[in-house]
Amino acid sequence: MKRERNVKIVATLGPASNDYTMIRALFEAGADVFRLNMSHGDHEEIRARHAIIRQVEKDLNSPIAILADLQGPKLRCGVFAGDEGFELEVGAAFRFDLDDTPGNRTRVQLPHKEIFAALEPGSHLLVNDGKVKLQVKECGADFANCVVVTGGPISNRKGVNVPDVVLPLAALSEKDRRDLEFVCELGVDWLALSFVQRPEDVEEGRALAKGRAAILSKIEKPAAVKAFDAILAASDGIMVARGDLGVELPVQNVPPIQKRLVRKCRAAAKPVIVATQMLESMIESPMPTRAEVSDVATALYEGADAVMLSAESAAGHFPIEAVQTMHNVALEVENDPTYREVLDASRHVDRTTVADGIVAAAREIAETTDIKAICCFTQSGATASLVARERPRVPIIALTPILSVARRMCLTWGTTCFVTGKVDRFKMAVVSAAKAAREGGFATEDEQIVVTAGVPFNVQGTTNILRVAPCAERLIYSTDPE
Ligand code: PGA
Ligand code: MN
Repeated sequence: MKRERNVKIVATLGPASNDYTMIRALFEAGADVFRLNMSHGDHEEIRARHAIIRQVEKDLNSPIAILADLQGPKLRCGVFAGDEGFELEVGAAFRFDLDDTPGNRTRVQLPHKEIFAALEPGSHLLVNDGKVKLQVKECGADFANCVVVTGGPISNRKGVNVPDVVLPLAALSEKDRRDLEFVCELGVDWLALSFVQRPEDVEEGRALAKGRAAILSKIEKPAAVKAFDAILAASDGIMVARGDLGVELPVQNVPPIQKRLVRKCRAAAKPVIVATQMLESMIESPMPTRAEVSDVATALYEGADAVMLSAESAAGHFPIEAVQTMHNVALEVENDPTYREVLDASRHVDRTTVADGIVAAAREIAETTDIKAICCFTQSGATASLVARERPRVPIIALTPILSVARRMCLTWGTTCFVTGKVDRFKMAVVSAAKAAREGGFATEDEQIVVTAGVPFNVQGTTNILRVAPCAERLIYSTDPE
């Protein structure tokens, strides 16, 4: 579906967005990708949401990507006597151990022995989204005696972050493995891995997915920021997961990291999502704060492929308004001349192949003359990603015979995907590109498009043709020899 904007919108589904009417309305308002969060909801709920998305896709005849987000090795403390929890005071002593006796004001269970093995005196533990901070004074194989550095509430099964150390944890828990198999069998397009620490974690997820989904790494640990280049190389896409990242690192470190990560993903032609708290106040209010609007705009000026809604669409009171807000910000920002200047100035492309040269030429031609779209035939999606890396001024139309490829490409900047029948001659390719451009509302009979393709057809990685073509079918036949 033609969206009149480049950036893609990812909407997380949840209790506020569970039925056909709402999911369809979210898509029509502008959501391109739906995120199923495996941290919440049982398999039957996930299965029902998945079926609804596929029904909407069928009814509106437009590919939709589904992103399943695995919980990952999220650490939690044990429970407290009386179930109420306690307020920890600055300077107080507090102990974590492996004893499952309900906790009190001075101790609680931390049922992860790997953490104790990795802690050192001086390490920090963060509890409850970073609200409470403790420093380890003394530790052993089954305990850590800490002092409270920042006081606050601690209660049953609150999340625990350990930012200072690379944890010797499996990248995927037992639950993650079960969830992964479940969603891959259902059929999802992207699989997001949480709390990735090393490229090996990504490889582990990829080995289990066995090609059934593309792999997206969530960057939310300092260790992942450090190993980012290797993690990016091992991944198909990236999420800047600012929620946990801002717990594990000082919040002021997040914006420069976001900028660096987005830039590297753009250079690598891999989609990058900027996520978390983008329109947080819209959970409760139909109007965003000015600061939130500015935050969404910043991600667009950086050239991110996608912006994401979390609780705003999953559990908020105004899911549709939140999508509309992102859409409206995109229309305004992307029509700002400064947006163009910034995107052009931040294009860092290392061109080494024929395909690199062809997509650059496609952009040059499209921007020099009055071309309405760059249409590319793509087997794996790779060529469309290369066109998107150029961040051209005209829309990108990706044509592929493979539905799963079209769905994955829904996350890619500026790209609208169409599933075509099998094409085996270049003239057929031009005819079907022109038809997609006309029917999709990108161009009229009198206008022109650029078409790229690889001959022979249906072989991956052969992009070697660029043609400026008319959109009128009779002109294609009268001007094209083949
Ligand atoms: P989450 O990931 O919503 O699964 O925690 C995103 C983030 O941490 O920002
Ligand atoms: Mn997270």
